[in-house]
Amino acid sequence: MGKIIGIDLGTTNSLAAVWENGESKLIPNSYGDYLTPSVVSVDEDGTVYVGKIAKERLITHPELTASVFKRNMGLKKIYKLGKKEFTPEELSSMVLRRLKEDAERYLGETVEEAIISVPAYFNDMGRNATKRAGRLAGLKVERIINEPSAAALACNYNGDDAEATVLVVDFGGGTLDVSLVDCFDNLVEIMAVSGNNHLGGHDFDEALAEYFLEKMQTSRRKISEETYGLLLREAEKCKIELSEEKSAHLKLQCDELSGDMEIDRKELVNICGEIFDRIAEPINSVLRDGRMGVSELTHIVLVGGSCKMKVVQQYLRYVFQRKDMLVRDPDHMVALGTGVCAGIKERAEDVKDMLLTDICPFSLGVNVVNRLEQNGDSVMSFLVERNSPLPISKKDYYVTVYDGQTQIDIGIYQGENYYAKDNIKLGELNVKVPARAKGQAGVWVRFPYDLNGGLAVDTEVPLSHQKQQLVIINKEIRMSEEEIRDRLAELEQLKLNPLEEEENKFALEWGMRLYAQCNAGIREELEKRMQYFVQTAQRDPRRAERVRKQYMVYLAFLEKALNAGGIEQMLGAGADWYNDDDEDGDNDWKGED
Ligand code: AMP
Repeated sequence: MGKIIGIDLGTTNSLAAVWENGESKLIPNSYGDYLTPSVVSVDEDGTVYVGKIAKERLITHPELTASVFKRNMGLKKIYKLGKKEFTPEELSSMVLRRLKEDAERYLGETVEEAIISVPAYFNDMGRNATKRAGRLAGLKVERIINEPSAAALACNYNGDDAEATVLVVDFGGGTLDVSLVDCFDNLVEIMAVSGNNHLGGHDFDEALAEYFLEKMQTSRRKISEETYGLLLREAEKCKIELSEEKSAHLKLQCDELSGDMEIDRKELVNICGEIFDRIAEPINSVLRDGRMGVSELTHIVLVGGSCKMKVVQQYLRYVFQRKDMLVRDPDHMVALGTGVCAGIKERAEDVKDMLLTDICPFSLGVNVVNRLEQNGDSVMSFLVERNSPLPISKKDYYVTVYDGQTQIDIGIYQGENYYAKDNIKLGELNVKVPARAKGQAGVWVRFPYDLNGGLAVDTEVPLSHQKQQLVIINKEIRMSEEEIRDRLAELEQLKLNPLEEEENKFALEWGMRLYAQCNAGIREELEKRMQYFVQTAQRDPRRAERVRKQYMVYLAFLEKALNAGGIEQMLGAGADWYNDDDEDGDNDWKGED
């Protein structure tokens, strides 16, 4: 059996892990980083860039670049990148392909299977889309794991307690997941989950960007997409700085809009009041569902990048009225957990006895006639209650409502609302029944729900012994095996930017983004250096690496200057960027003058 890897397919960043020598290890990408930005960009020639390069292109080529697409997994959303169109799952498949390649390079063997984590709150469509993304990346995905379960698994594996009740708050770039996990010996049991997959660090970035625009007396409508992209990036930087410092600057310098705003943590809290209120909701819901008081929790574990925000930590201390929260490797916990899960699936010696039980994060049911309101909309009859442990199989019997009825239409819904129409419709089955007096004919409906959160529906009509089965897939984006194969072939045609060319391309895209941020004086100089670097890379690949290093030292200096005091200060800074450690000590770019 080939190696199985675990993948945390994140909204902002993705990571891969593997079970090796008795522990879960993160897999570095070609830059030696563990985090690969979940950003995809295409070139006019069809080359696909994933990760760090694509993140740079978000600014320089916003029309050819997509990010935060995980939010729309399983929805019928199309991303138009130039002339090409992609669904969220196709974009995700490219991120997965890159992670697979990086893992293969790291492990020195082919990887055919992966366990991918998804937010607990992902519905059936999001889960199926994630599996299809795996397929499109050439990976077998038999097991999907809830992100908080993965985090708990990693905590438990590292933890010292044989028995613990843990509340995991996973606050990432685009989602918040809260889960209550019971760990007992080798059993990790998820007791309750709740969350919001439209709440994350990105919301703070947007709030800061809006505040900046307000201070500069302008609005989003008045600036281009490109400028807004730059602003969001600076807003994120400012937010991250506020995790370390009590106050920070949000600076933007580009043709369309320039400004400098100082903001402290208190102001951040004030402008983000609504975001904080939304954080509390799922926490309350989980504790209520799990019938657990805060004082009964052994640990409160904070994971996900946004838990690094000091204001978020402070807010959670206030909500829980506890000071002993653990902030452990917030960026890595989920991926490390998927690595443990990969070990379990491989039946690795050290973890083969470990068991993970998951739950269904939402209720599932069918629509039935509304008996309370005349001509009222149909209402829900729940078969599987939210937070039921998986796998589960529940059945119920439904009868005809008028004499001579020969068909019972069963709508399958997911959600917690009273009226069926207010929930998400997953599918429909039309079951033929023999004509009888009302209530005399009926159908057994059974929902077997597997460990991955995949639902099937079985029906049986006792009078006719007729059986039917429906495996739920989103109707709108249903793909037949044949369609998946065709699309797979098409996507394979798109070539991922080769790993060997990554660094050159990254240096180029980085330069282009800074170019967009600089003013005329610096642009000229940057352009000259950029041209020199490109020409050398083409003409003399042997020297390319050295020239690139120098060029990147310059870019790092430029970036720092832009962040620090603006470009004017830089003009007088002479050759501070110059790297004395350069092997030859010569100033290569000047050779072109
Ligand atoms: P994740 O989805 O877990 O990778 O989290 C990504 C989110 O965490 C993004 O919104 C980042 O801006 C945010 N983030 C990462 N590091 C920090 C930090 N040091 N302070 C504040 N937010 C951070």
